[in-house]
Amino acid sequence: MSLTFAVGDMTVHRVIEMEAPLFDPLTFFPTLSKEVLDENLPWLRPDFIDPKTGEVVLCIQSYIVRTKHHNILIDSCVGNHKDRRSRPFWHQMSSDRYERGLAATGLTMADIDFVMCTHLHVDHVGWNTRLENGRWVPSFPKAKYVFADRELAFWTDREKTAPGEQPWITDSVLPIVEAKRHEIVKSTHELLDGVSLIPTPGHTIDHYSVRIGKPGADAVIGGDMIHSPLQARYPDLGMRADYDSAEAGRSRRSLFGGLCDTSTLLCTGHFPGTSKGRMTKWGDGFRFNPV
Ligand SMILES: [Zn+2]
Repeated sequence: MSLTFAVGDMTVHRVIEMEAPLFDPLTFFPTLSKEVLDENLPWLRPDFIDPKTGEVVLCIQSYIVRTKHHNILIDSCVGNHKDRRSRPFWHQMSSDRYERGLAATGLTMADIDFVMCTHLHVDHVGWNTRLENGRWVPSFPKAKYVFADRELAFWTDREKTAPGEQPWITDSVLPIVEAKRHEIVKSTHELLDGVSLIPTPGHTIDHYSVRIGKPGADAVIGGDMIHSPLQARYPDLGMRADYDSAEAGRSRRSLFGGLCDTSTLLCTGHFPGTSKGRMTKWGDGFRFNPV
């Protein structure tokens, strides 16, 4: 399976940090019933639900979009050497898989011009920083880090009221702000010609997706607006870390409705396998067709 594909005249690389069965579906999707899960297992297994453990299989990855003039990295995974005590499989990771994946693209961290974080959750900000002489410093030395304004304000405020309770903000977001390497934008912002943010709120307060390319040769990089193709079939199915599941459902209906039966690729944040596909209608919801 190739980790590189073209979208119009842009090249997109996937850099994978991890792909593994991680979470029990009935707790990951709190309103999912055992009956509905069982009914869908025949098509969810083996790719999306691990047949052995019964857990949701997730990929943790970055997308790198190469335009003629810029390299844009979207979402920066979990990162190494970070204290993540509530998630043993992400605690103090010390893996070279991510850096090897980046090297395989022919790029280095110094080649990245923009780091876009679709939202500020633990598995989307980790490689923003790296440990240097006991301090967290920006990993991508030349990059501007693009944060949505209300998203950054929400987490900054939470860090003030409950300091240390979101360690990924402490070690992977605030050091970027302190180093003045961030760019605060609206979630409707056009970053570059052919690279725009689309507001897809709900999973977090100001979650954004990224549209790349031109009509007829385009893709949407969707971050965490969806975690499993089950949430395409049932767009209202919330995920336990959602800020507002009803709003996340509305974002899925709106975005997927627009993608339905078009050539636009949906590049998901967390699906295993190819991670990307096209949408068609499926009953009251949508079918994710991997490509
Ligand atoms: Zn995520």
